[in-house]
Amino acid sequence: MSTSVLVINCGSSSIKYALVSERREDRIFGLAENLGSAEARIKGVSAGGAPLELSIPHADHEKALETILERLSHYNPQAIGHRVVHGGTLTKAELLTPEIIERIRAATPLAPLHNPAHLVGIDATMRLFPELPQVAVFDTAFHQTMPAHAYHYAVPKFLYTEYNVRRYGFHGTSHAYVSERGSELAGSFKQGGWLTAHLGNGSSTCAIWNGQSVDTSMGLTPLEGIVMGTRSGDVDPSLHSYLAANLGWDVYKIDKMLNKESGLLGLSNNLSNDMRTLIEASEQGNEDATLAIEVFCYRLAKSLAALSCGLPRIDGLFFTGGIGENSAYIREKTMSYLPHFGFNLSKEQNNNLKRGTEGRIDTGTGPQIWVIPTDEEGRIAKETEHVVDNEVNQATVKKSEADVAVA
Ligand code: AMP
Repeated sequence: MSTSVLVINCGSSSIKYALVSERREDRIFGLAENLGSAEARIKGVSAGGAPLELSIPHADHEKALETILERLSHYNPQAIGHRVVHGGTLTKAELLTPEIIERIRAATPLAPLHNPAHLVGIDATMRLFPELPQVAVFDTAFHQTMPAHAYHYAVPKFLYTEYNVRRYGFHGTSHAYVSERGSELAGSFKQGGWLTAHLGNGSSTCAIWNGQSVDTSMGLTPLEGIVMGTRSGDVDPSLHSYLAANLGWDVYKIDKMLNKESGLLGLSNNLSNDMRTLIEASEQGNEDATLAIEVFCYRLAKSLAALSCGLPRIDGLFFTGGIGENSAYIREKTMSYLPHFGFNLSKEQNNNLKRGTEGRIDTGTGPQIWVIPTDEEGRIAKETEHVVDNEVNQATVKKSEADVAVA
């Protein structure tokens, strides 16, 4: 393996990791889960594709990271890239310095579930690998190019100026990778107008013009937008006061319901947040599952149509994420609600596309439609390398300037 970057994504009770080299096939990756409990374990893939399963009872984040890093240290990663959900107003990936860490901490009220977990991971890797350059790559950064009319809410201005209440958008790494890769395959690298639909447990849509995000479905938090596994997406904001007045619920209970008990799970009457289970149940006549799928696809199509307003023209649409990459059924149903803009799905190409592979699925007569498997880890590694290379270059320039001054 040549140059490699270790990508870390720390959640509240899990850590995803990937050692990314130049060749995607060489990737070593895994997930440490159930951290803090007796069932804590690491599951993944070792070098050469061999499966890995390791029990690490009661391991916390630091212990799990220590185990992961021990197993990977002989590959000599050159840098560590951390996925960080909320970067506040930071517009690009940044080398981790005390100032940047403080800015991640300051964005915590905007991502109370995610940023504290990332900080635990950052703290642990900084202590374990003090000599390695470490970079934070933000989900929000790609969307910092949104124009003011796309990121403002129609609420009193002081909430924006004094309390940062605005739309930020998330899944930026995925939307950036997929639109870049897709437009390259379409022969118009980073040019033109594209819509992306990242459909997984968390889902969002994005409009991209000439390689830059101009609008996206998620907002202040990753709750806004389309239907997700357990998240409601858009609801009438008055739902809060309605539930408070009629059921006596407080904001925390409502927030939990909207984040953890809604979406596909809520619509299917607690059957599942997993699209595969819902498709199977629907085929067997389960009406709740059928409704959940219909609402998911309809609202997705509606969001894509709305985001088209951000684009001077539509060159095409990219599907990605676990659902977008793997379910021809969901893609077809979504496109059935979107007969506008000249979109023409090829049923045959859609059905014949091998799961998890790149491919074009339109008839060739309207805007293009593609399936592009996302590669967030690859993108984080690339951005990490870019930041580290820039830092090295800057340090070299500063050193030669200092040498000249001394001479
Ligand atoms: P992600 O969060 O990107 O890993 O995506 C997880 C979602 O992808 C879950 O809802 C899975 O049910 C869904 N998914 C994975 N494979 C398929 C498939 N073949 N058909 C439908 N949904 C799928």
